[in-house]
Amino acid sequence: MNMPEKTPRNPGSLKSVVIAVDGPVAAGKGTLARRLAERFGYAYLDTGALYRAVGAKVLRQGGDPADPVIATKAAESLDESDRAAPELRSEVVGLAASKVAAIPGVRAALLEFQRRFAHQPPHGKAGAVLDGRDIGTVVCPDAPVKLFVTARDEVRAERRYRELVDKGENVSFERVLADLRQRDAQDQARAAAPLKPAADAHLLDTSDLAIEAAVAAAAEAVAAILKR
Ligand code: C5P
Repeated sequence: MNMPEKTPRNPGSLKSVVIAVDGPVAAGKGTLARRLAERFGYAYLDTGALYRAVGAKVLRQGGDPADPVIATKAAESLDESDRAAPELRSEVVGLAASKVAAIPGVRAALLEFQRRFAHQPPHGKAGAVLDGRDIGTVVCPDAPVKLFVTARDEVRAERRYRELVDKGENVSFERVLADLRQRDAQDQARAAAPLKPAADAHLLDTSDLAIEAAVAAAAEAVAAILKR
C-alpha cells in the first residue's frame, strides 16, 4: 500500500500493546474496538476500511473485484484519498471488499501497513486496537489480547439494516440478511486468512448485550489479561 506514515512513532523502546478484535459482519467489533482504544488510550485501525477502499477503487475503475491482477494493483497503489472515499460503508462496496479480500496479492499488499500500525502506533501511543477478520490469526498472532466478537445472524442483520436505513440507503431487511450471510460465507471459506477465531481468543457474544455492557465485558477481559 502506497501510504507514507507522517506521524511520529512510539518513541520509547517499550513494546506496543496490541488488542486484536475479529468477528463477522456487524457483530459490533468496530464500536467495541473504538471504545477500547479510547479507554486504554491506544490508536485504532479499522482494517475492513482498507479492503473496502480497495473494493471501491476497483468498482470506480469499472473492474471486477474478483480479478486478481486488477485488485492487487489497486491494493498496491492505495492512498489516503482512496481511504476517504464517501461510498466505503455501502452494501455494494462491502461485497466487493469481501471479493478482493480473498485474493492473496491484495492481502499481502495491506499486511505491512497493518503490522506497522500495530507495533509502532501513530502519535507515540502505547498500544493499538485493530479490528477485522484475521488480526488475531495472521496480522498480529502474538497480540496479548484477542477478542472474537459474534452475534446471531438476525441480530447482526438488524443492526446493519438500521445503519443503512439511517444513512438513507434503500434496502430490505431480507436483502441485508442475505448479503451478510453471503459475505460471512465468503470470508470463512477463502483459503487466504479465513475468518475464524484464534485458538487463544476470548469469545464475546453481543446478541443480548447492550453496547455499554459489551464494552465493559471486553474491557474487563483486556484488563485481566494485561495484569498477568
Ligand atoms: O469489517 P468490514 O465489514 O468493513 O470488512 C469488509 C470486508 O473486508 C470483509 O467482509 C472481509 O472480506 C474483508 N476483511 C478482511 N480482513 C480484515 C478486515 C476485513 O478480509 N482484517
